[in-house]
Amino acid sequence: MSECIYVCPLGSVDMELLECISHALSKRSNMAVKLLPATGEPVYAYDAKRGQYSSKRILKRLGACCPHETFKIMGVTRVDLYVPILTFVFGAAQMSGRCAVISTQRLDPVYYQAPEDRNLLMERVKKTAVHELGHSMGLIHCRDRRCVMFSSTRIEDTDFKKPEFCYTCRELFKWNLNQRPHLAETKV
Ligand SMILES: [Zn+2]
Ligand SMILES: [Zn+2]
Repeated sequence: MSECIYVCPLGSVDMELLECISHALSKRSNMAVKLLPATGEPVYAYDAKRGQYSSKRILKRLGACCPHETFKIMGVTRVDLYVPILTFVFGAAQMSGRCAVISTQRLDPVYYQAPEDRNLLMERVKKTAVHELGHSMGLIHCRDRRCVMFSSTRIEDTDFKKPEFCYTCRELFKWNLNQRPHLAETKV
């Protein structure tokens, strides 16, 4: 089987959002994206003191259980994620690694007491998924506020940026994508 990107719902996640993520990842990477069956909520990552879930523990678990032909795997969850130095994260990824995770919780307008807005939620989910895919492809944060690799520390940052890489990030993304080991092996 050839390499592909997996999208893995961690707990129940809206199918429309999963399809939106799959489409966005496939479009930017030109790779096949497959949806895995939903696993349970990531209870193993729960930190009772914070009332949040450790993104690092989720990434570790994803790495341990991903299918053999995984190029990248992206977990999608509704629970709130954190890393120790920040109050929360919209998503996280292993730099130049295989695993990434995003949370839909703080991307939902309803979280901010705003009216329900499916399109806005999907736009935010798409941007967050592409951002984490970028990290997994070795991209660091970009200083262009419109670039999808701009660091979102507030939801306003996410809303301001586009779901696309700027020219520089896109070139780096493509270059890194072409450095895949199996491609190097088949070069003559
Ligand atoms: Zn980032
Ligand atoms: Zn950029």
